[in-house]
Amino acid sequence: MQYNENAQLDPSQMGGGGGGRSGGKIALGGGAGLLVVILALVFGLNPSALLGDGTTTGETSTGAYAHCTRGSDISADRDCRFVAYTNSIQAYWASAVEGYTMSTTKTFTGRIDTACGTATSAVGPFYCPADSTVYLDTGFFDDLVTQLGAQGGDAAEAYVIAHEYGHHVSNLIGTLDEVQRAGNQTGATSPQVRLELQADCFAGVWLKNAQTQENGPISGVTTDDLKRAVDAAQAVGDDRIQEQTTGRVDRESWTHGSTEQRSRWLLAGYSSGNPNSCDTFSAKTL
Ligand SMILES: [Zn+2]
Repeated sequence: MQYNENAQLDPSQMGGGGGGRSGGKIALGGGAGLLVVILALVFGLNPSALLGDGTTTGETSTGAYAHCTRGSDISADRDCRFVAYTNSIQAYWASAVEGYTMSTTKTFTGRIDTACGTATSAVGPFYCPADSTVYLDTGFFDDLVTQLGAQGGDAAEAYVIAHEYGHHVSNLIGTLDEVQRAGNQTGATSPQVRLELQADCFAGVWLKNAQTQENGPISGVTTDDLKRAVDAAQAVGDDRIQEQTTGRVDRESWTHGSTEQRSRWLLAGYSSGNPNSCDTFSAKTL
């Protein structure tokens, strides 16, 4: 990922307040951890099934990113890249969606209280529609590489965050609500899968447009970046995760889409650069 050193960053889009890094405990460890991360990816959108009562929070305070004010800060503090992605993603959607309302990215370690319940790190990144916030345990990016076998890299991380913001866009345009009303059906062509593929497509649309934003923080996406983003989408495909955990593939229980579907919709968004190409709900072929 190439960054524009002179771009201004807006750290206020990193939600938080209070907390600080308290380093709360993860309830599960070892082998069980893997399963929970995977379950979280499968639930993704609303991790209520994995949420329990929490006492400590490891919310990163807004202040942790206050020094991230310019693109050049990314080389001094790599954490500033999360501000850059968040700013770029929201600047794009604010220009593309009428009435876009700003969300925030809240990073945490350990546990965090959200309007969707208390989440642990094991939940993985998610979007909570009830408070319109993207939650991110940045340690997930290590899991993506070590547990899910992705190559990782900045573009892979940017894809994951952009996917969560894709849910925010779906929330604003009403598709998320429709899917929630449809209940928890699963399967390769289920409303849930269509929503997830829409978020992947939206991520691709942003990645394309990120490069041409005036004074935006991202100045270029290389072929290798795109490959890494696609690789991350493949690593979280339902079929691949099922194979890893159970040794078999069950299309009827898919909630996010297959490796092939996810990478194809991400690329569809990237090649068109147009959110109208992300109508996964009327698409005949997913
Ligand atoms: Zn999702």
